[in-house]
This record gives sequence, C-alpha cells and structure tokens, in this order.
Amino acid sequence: MVTIADRLHQARARVDAACHRAGREPASVELLPISKWHSPASIREAHAAGWTRLGESRPQELRSKAEELDDVELSWVAIGHLQTNKAKIIAAYADEFQALDSVPLGQALDRRLAQADRELPVLLEVNTSGEAAKGGFAPEGVVDAVRMLRSCDRLRLEGLMTLAARSQDQEPVRACFTRLVETQQRLQDTFGEPFDTLSMGMSEDFELAVACGSTCVRLGTLIFGPRPTR
Ligand SMILES: *Cc1c(COP(=O)(O)O)cnc(C)c1O
Repeated sequence: MVTIADRLHQARARVDAACHRAGREPASVELLPISKWHSPASIREAHAAGWTRLGESRPQELRSKAEELDDVELSWVAIGHLQTNKAKIIAAYADEFQALDSVPLGQALDRRLAQADRELPVLLEVNTSGEAAKGGFAPEGVVDAVRMLRSCDRLRLEGLMTLAARSQDQEPVRACFTRLVETQQRLQDTFGEPFDTLSMGMSEDFELAVACGSTCVRLGTLIFGPRPTR
C-alpha cells in the first residue's frame, strides 16, 4: 500500500527534479501539503513523515483541526477565500494567509491581528487566468492594492499566490504562471522590496510551476488522494 509518507517523498523527489532541470536550488521550493477535507489522522501521518506546515482552505475546518491536533507541532496555512466575518479565526489560528483578495479584507484582518497582538505573513491572490469563477486581484490592480495595504502594519506582505487555468495544454497554464512572475517584478520595481514568495502549482501543474519560478507548490490530491465527499 502506498502511504502518505511515500507520496510525500515521491512528490518531494519530483519537485527536486524539477528544480534541477530549471537550474534552481531544491531548498528554494516548499512542498505544502493541502489537507482540506482529509482527516486529522492523515495529517498525523504527514507530520510523522516530517511535514509541519499544512494548508487548509476553510477557516472553520482549519480551527477545528488546529484544536484537535494541538498535541503536535503544526503550522497552518490558510489558502482559501476568506469572508471578512471569519477574519478573526485566521488571526487566531493561521500562521500564514495566502489568499488575500481585497483591500477591505486586509484591513479587517489587520484589526483582528492587532487585537490578538500578532503579525501574519500574507500573500496577495492574483487572478492570472481571468476566469470569473476564480478569486484574486486583477494583475493590473496589485500595485494599487499593495499601496493601500501598506498601512496595515500587522500584515507582512511577502508575495503572491495564484491558481492557474486548468488545461491539458501547457501554454495557458504557463501564461498564468508567467503573469504572476511579471506581477511580482512590477511590485519589486515599484516598492523596492522582495515580495519573494510565489505560491503557484498544484497536483496537476506543479512541475511547470517550478520551471516558471514557484517557491511554494500546494499539493492536495497527489499527497492525500482524492478528496472525500462531504
Ligand atoms: C485544494 C487546493 C489546492 C490543492 O489542489 P490539488 O489539485 O488537490 O493538489 C491548492 N491550492 C488551493 C488554493 C486549493 O484550494
């Protein structure tokens, strides 16, 4: 039987190989397992295999898993769309938020973080595919958003996240990743700061994402198998 530990090691080897092909350091790319909808027991297996950061998309699920698994040392990365009225959960339980998609949400999160006396690493989500169903800032709107969010001193703006178009064809997927890199470049040129985290790549497209410059691949299905239906 293939275990979660096996899948983590196999996926890590594929990330490393993609790094080598691209002339990049393997240590420059994080493999972030996405445990949404999967059981706390599966998360314990990932933890036992040496992974301590896990991605979750729904705030309530993140909170309940954090509470249930408080006997193990884990950090929680929130990757899904967040409603303002749930910002308090993320301020309390998350160690990073990768899906900031509006300025008012950033301001609400900043207030909740101030109340909790915490800071939070944050990535801005960018809609690089132009698909209406996907969240995130338009690439052209990111510089203005960062300008408005810079007064939120509890948010540490560390980079960008995207979900690429889903396609059998590499080109539309590559175009999304390239757009994220270009948006990062624009931020660096405008603000003179690194914004060096690029969270891009999922089970279907992570090797291409690494080739394009990803520093964090978010792998759900490849690690934990198909998501159970709720
Ligand atoms: C679920 C999810 C993933 C993981 O997707 P897989 O295709 O199962 O690897 C990655 N990123 C986000 C934002 C997700 O919601």
